[in-house]
Amino acid sequence: MSQEPTTLSTADAPQGDVDEHEGRMARPRRAAPADAIRPTRAEVNLAALRQNLRAIERRLGPSRPEVWGVLKADAYGHGAPAVARTLERAGIAGLCVALLEEGIELREAGIRIPILVMGGYYGHHHRGLEEALARDLTPVVYHVDQVQHLSRWVRARGTHAAAVHLKIDTGMSRLGARPDEFEALIAAVASTPEVKMQGLMSHLACADGADVAPTRDQIEKFSSAVAATRRIGLEPGTLHMANSAGMLRFPAARFDAVRPGLALYGLSPLASDEIQRDLVPALRVRTEIVALRDIEAGEAVGYGHTFRATSRRRIATIPVGYADGFPRALSGKASVLVRGKRAPLAGIVSMDLAAVDVTDVPGAALGDEVVVLGAQEGPLGRDVVSADELASLTGAISWEILTHISRRVPRFYREP
Ligand SMILES: *Cc1c(COP(=O)(O)O)cnc(C)c1O
Repeated sequence: MSQEPTTLSTADAPQGDVDEHEGRMARPRRAAPADAIRPTRAEVNLAALRQNLRAIERRLGPSRPEVWGVLKADAYGHGAPAVARTLERAGIAGLCVALLEEGIELREAGIRIPILVMGGYYGHHHRGLEEALARDLTPVVYHVDQVQHLSRWVRARGTHAAAVHLKIDTGMSRLGARPDEFEALIAAVASTPEVKMQGLMSHLACADGADVAPTRDQIEKFSSAVAATRRIGLEPGTLHMANSAGMLRFPAARFDAVRPGLALYGLSPLASDEIQRDLVPALRVRTEIVALRDIEAGEAVGYGHTFRATSRRRIATIPVGYADGFPRALSGKASVLVRGKRAPLAGIVSMDLAAVDVTDVPGAALGDEVVVLGAQEGPLGRDVVSADELASLTGAISWEILTHISRRVPRFYREP
């Protein structure tokens, strides 16, 4: 285990430690002593990830494309190594990350299935391409330059051909070869035996939008690129362009593989899609009441005194703030769950703390669990605060709520 000296026994808990109060919970090694004391943590339900993968597979039907799970941004805040290990064991075909660094982290965690680095930029002189290959990561490339660099590197090393996926920009206008650059790109690959085209990808811009025309257009452009590739005698390999929304809504966008992120974590990008019933949000953020006070009419709460009591109120303090990724913009808008019942925030969310008006939560006491994201069952009922709900209160999107949960919130893994 950790070689680092520590004076605090709670930080010494071995991996896979069993917390009697919480069921089976693997304590992450990176939990610092301070994390271990504060009751605020993100609980990640690994079984939910498997369940979501199965729900996606069922939806894809019998002739199903491969599923390549998207684990960028620390697996949407869930902790990439643990998510990768779970999905690898569940038989997922491959993983996708945005950054080379993210791919390296997964290889260092012992992940062996294919990992696609989608970002497509590799630093000065494309040095990152070499690192990607050395780590057995599959780089996405879209410049003739990158192909030539790989070719020189493979020749210099005398290694086998570098496997890459190419990316075409079909309408996002961010990354990838433009359609008019694509012919030159595939011509370069076709004449470069040191580089093997193993896949072709694109990315959808509007798959969750009301208008389906942009997506249809992207699918068409992608299909043309596939045809152009085959025309020059190059086999494009695995074809993929669908994110969660594309995969759910556009069967024609599924091709050989789909790249869900959000749906794997148990959230649907489409409010009306029936898959919502089968998805289980894998992450929940909980804390506890650390202080409790009664204030009189006329007294105020928090910075700027934005909440002023008009009658006697009971105020609970929770150790969660905007530095944990609980947006300040939720002040005066969001509710949290206490004893299975909603209770509104009181005053401004500060960096480390927030206040909750628990006047209408009978029995609320010091040490009670408070859920700021996810489900809670308690003596007063059962309720859920979804990432969608928090997002809609602040003008954010659920992806943003998940990825903003900060490093200060330790992730605990649950295998029910
Ligand atoms: C993030 C991302 C995805 C996954 O998107 P979701 O909407 O979370 O399913 C797929 N492909 C690429 C290129 C991405 O950047």
